[in-house]
Amino acid sequence: MKIGVYFCNCGSNISDKVDSVQVYQALEGLTDVAYFKINDLMCSEDGKQFLNDDIAAEKPDRIVIAACSPREHENTFMRVLTGAGMNPYLMQMVNIREQVAWVTDGVDKASAKAAQFIKGAIKRVGFHKPLEKKSIEMSPDVLIIGAGPAGLKAAITIAETGRKVTLVEKSPVIGGQPVLYEEVFPNLECAPCMLEPLLNEILHGEHAENIEILTLSEVVELTGFYGNFIAKIKKTPRYADLNQCIGCGECIGVCPVDIKNEFNNGLDVRHAISLSFAGALPNVPFIDMTACLRAKGEDCKLCERSCPLGEGIILYDDAEETVERRMGAVIVAVGASLYDAGLIPKLGAGTVPDVYTSFEFERLLSSTGPTGGQLVTSSGKTPESIALIHCVGSLDSNHKEYCSGVCCQSAFKYNLMVEHKLNDAHIYHLYKELVYPGKEEFFLYKRAKENINSAFTRYLNIGSLEITAAEDGRILIKNTLSEKGAIKADMVVLCPALAPSKDTDKLNEVLGTTADTYGFFEELHGRLDCAKSKVRGIYIAGACQSPMNIAQAMTQGMAAAGYVLSGLAEGKQLEIEPITASVDAQRCSGCRVCMLLCPYKAISLDAETRKSSVNEVLCQGCGTCAAACPSGALSSNHFTNEAIFAEIEGVLA
Ligand code: SF4
Ligand code: SF4
Repeated sequence: MKIGVYFCNCGSNISDKVDSVQVYQALEGLTDVAYFKINDLMCSEDGKQFLNDDIAAEKPDRIVIAACSPREHENTFMRVLTGAGMNPYLMQMVNIREQVAWVTDGVDKASAKAAQFIKGAIKRVGFHKPLEKKSIEMSPDVLIIGAGPAGLKAAITIAETGRKVTLVEKSPVIGGQPVLYEEVFPNLECAPCMLEPLLNEILHGEHAENIEILTLSEVVELTGFYGNFIAKIKKTPRYADLNQCIGCGECIGVCPVDIKNEFNNGLDVRHAISLSFAGALPNVPFIDMTACLRAKGEDCKLCERSCPLGEGIILYDDAEETVERRMGAVIVAVGASLYDAGLIPKLGAGTVPDVYTSFEFERLLSSTGPTGGQLVTSSGKTPESIALIHCVGSLDSNHKEYCSGVCCQSAFKYNLMVEHKLNDAHIYHLYKELVYPGKEEFFLYKRAKENINSAFTRYLNIGSLEITAAEDGRILIKNTLSEKGAIKADMVVLCPALAPSKDTDKLNEVLGTTADTYGFFEELHGRLDCAKSKVRGIYIAGACQSPMNIAQAMTQGMAAAGYVLSGLAEGKQLEIEPITASVDAQRCSGCRVCMLLCPYKAISLDAETRKSSVNEVLCQGCGTCAAACPSGALSSNHFTNEAIFAEIEGVLA
């Protein structure tokens, strides 16, 4: 076998410490080494040209390149090999810069160490086999889970390029949490008005035909891989015809069933047939069949009879169905929820009247909410004082250690909204830390401070706050660690941390994605790739990845869309890296150890043969399965036992 060795000086990075003459002398006499050539900067254009010309002239069977880290330039040199007509996998790189020159004292010691590493590479490269990359067709279509700001922005960005999007939303409406708000920070813009153009674009715009919206739906299974995913989506029936209903609402008032209204956080009731809230889109009612009298065996048809369009709009026979969609990529944008304030029982959430969470308070402030936007206590009184408790469950190792970065903004927004509605109301801010990041956020804090009826008091530990019902019908807020007297208020608003939505774990299981330390969808890299999950082709956007505001969620939705658009294209082929694991079926006992350990879900058990098989597209060649297989049935095709043992022998020789 003819093996060529190329030694790179890396300017003086390597040559200052590793003497190429000493290395050459140490390799002399190795039978397969046909030549040893030195270049000053092999990754430069001149260096690559030298390598290309030399390979073409020498026609070696294998080559070893002693240079920098393969992380930096393995791909560079593989491309040169390909250009020179040599299979790129017939090369072995040796890192004599980071692992030798930069960390070894003395030229003699470093040169001897480099020579041993190169000997190992010479031994192993003889076992390398030519490998070919395969390519498969990709679907350019996209599945987006969650129709909040991030999901909607991603959907329209992708649809505008002519791609097909399936937008799956668990609730009956699109728009996410902000459509339930009256106004949003930092400039108190009307939230539904702000979102209306985007929602309208999605539902009726120029590219609407590229977006299939599946409300009341959830993804229950995802199989396949980047470029070729297949999703099973369970559709809960709406029991009203989405295409024909004109949304007049005549059917709603006649329904005799009242149930808790989850869209107003249980602060009022709705009927079994209802619209989520006034202005909800799509503007078509849905029937909650768990509450409908028909589910109890009664033949109620009041809603159908009241429909001015007659029969056929209310669809009592509508049934749950599971549909399948094929797509190349998935964007997860399911948002976040609030940390459960009930986990800090002394705060009185759900037990003391007129203690609300921020989501509940948003609905009280909203003109489409339970009081039509009027701020009144449960006894019907106009509150004279409202206490806003910041940092509920935030910055606390007993709850959530992080700062959500948005709760203070909500509290300052409430200050201004209360001021607009009740000019003389006293507003107490109780906070652990005050946070106002960004170029616009300080404005609201400043406005709150300028209100002569506002007062700010710091507490050190949320556990020291006790909120109880006072005898006079008001609410008592005591800080047991403070010498200051208790505060009395007519209403209390708790501003909890943003937390992962309750379906996060279930969805992670379905998608094969992972959760971070805090339970949010885990990104590939917190700064470089925060819109990518660890599964290739599955992207994450919005508050399901980390607490964030609407602007940030929209931006991340566009970032995820950008990844999709640059990676997937009609007719584009997906190149598959050939360094993968393979199974020797004769040896496989079907124990499934590999299946359980594979971090990429690349191994499955053939139902008939009971043997493992590796999906070459999903396999990333990490070698976990090969190391774990108790039968020795799995091997990694570029890292065979023979090659690894030969390298060790070479290094130790
Ligand atoms: S059929 Fe069901 S949803 Fe319609 S009015 Fe009767 S109870 Fe209400
Ligand atoms: S009455 Fe008929 S058209 Fe009007 S909202 Fe109900 S189902 Fe739709």
